[in-house]
Amino acid sequence: MSDFVLRGGTVVFPDRAPARHDILVQGGKIAALLAPGAAAPAGIPQQSAAGLHVFPGLIDAHVHFGFGEKITEYSTETAYAAQGGFTTILGYFLNNEAYADVYRREQDYARARCHVDYGFHFSTANELHITELGKYVSDYGVTSFKYFMNFKGEEGRYMGLDGTDDGFFHALLAESARVGRPTIVCHTENIEIVNRVRRQVQAAGGGTLKDWSASKPAITESEPAIRAMYFAEKLGAKVYFPHISSRMAIDEIRLWRKRYADVTFEICPHYLTHTEDSDLVGMGKANPPFRTKDDQEALWEALADGTADVVASDHVARKKATKDKPLWLASQGFPGTATILPVLLAEGYHKRKLPLQRICQLLTSGPAKIFHLDPVKGRIEAGADADFTIADLEKERVVKAEELGSYSDYSLYDGWKFKGWPVKTIVRGVTVMENGRIVGPGGHAQYLWRRIGQPPILGKLS
Ligand SMILES: [Zn+2]
Repeated sequence: MSDFVLRGGTVVFPDRAPARHDILVQGGKIAALLAPGAAAPAGIPQQSAAGLHVFPGLIDAHVHFGFGEKITEYSTETAYAAQGGFTTILGYFLNNEAYADVYRREQDYARARCHVDYGFHFSTANELHITELGKYVSDYGVTSFKYFMNFKGEEGRYMGLDGTDDGFFHALLAESARVGRPTIVCHTENIEIVNRVRRQVQAAGGGTLKDWSASKPAITESEPAIRAMYFAEKLGAKVYFPHISSRMAIDEIRLWRKRYADVTFEICPHYLTHTEDSDLVGMGKANPPFRTKDDQEALWEALADGTADVVASDHVARKKATKDKPLWLASQGFPGTATILPVLLAEGYHKRKLPLQRICQLLTSGPAKIFHLDPVKGRIEAGADADFTIADLEKERVVKAEELGSYSDYSLYDGWKFKGWPVKTIVRGVTVMENGRIVGPGGHAQYLWRRIGQPPILGKLS
């Protein structure tokens, strides 16, 4: 089943220009890259990728679990990921308890259901999470932790968390440096400024996405990023910024990286396609908000010039009913994994000449290195898992949410026509999506037990 030779495709690499190769797959792993048409072991089946591009399996490093239908979301949301060509997802949990029970329970749900390989990020929100940080790395294979700089005091308690402060953040980063330097994912938001400005915007009767953006001005994203980088430098921590949305934040990251290198960041596709001038109201509500045309240009520049490290979805499997409301009542976020590649191919590669090699870095080697999946994931070379995303760069297709299979019942891109789509998703040599159809049951996936500085162990649970 998982032994074959993939013939006729153009392989997209993260570290060099695309090139024609055949690929020999044995035992679910890449055995060799072959010259086009070269001999393969006698009797081995062939698969054709003629006229198509073969990417290393795509990795969505930013997915939220717990917003779909509990339990079945591991089936629906990973089938949805496979529809988008993704072979690996990393999902966030946000809990106020110790993670031992959460981990066991979620593994029981996930193991039998997932269509693509998966790993977990834990959010850190109370003292116990700092004390147990090293244990989460050694006992659960979790090597990345989220910290919400906005869930301070009352704001955190409102979310059912203990509520933290800079003292907590400082201690978390120091502990991370002590336990081997897992990646600390910092949501940067100065909530004290946001709370004050929001009251003014609301008092003035604001109710558009422009008002939403005005309530969280760009400086509330960039200033905490500076604080996080300064702390990280002084404490020796590794920080990663999810969903960076503004030119102001990117400028600061560029500046700071010259001084302290262990800073990486992510851009989400919706900021590449939408601005605060969109009339979507609640349907377009996200945190951070859609920003200006100039911010959007800054994001595209950061993708093109190598500044950005990762593109990820911030996927939340919400129903339309929770979104289609007046601005202040609507839920934040939307589904996103399955449309990442079409956005980058249509709006990036075709319209802006964004090289395929950059798209490959942002969706494969970038997240693989930052989140400890390398060298098993994020590469097409001998020894790596035979994870492939086979894309037809010329295929035009109109987005219809119901065809993509999420628990969510809409897409930000419903009715948009994109040029460039994945047509086949292969996970460890096994085809899980072909021409928009999910092939085979869930449960093929394996948990990615991650380690710092060593390859992940697939399928290890404890
Ligand atoms: Zn998120």
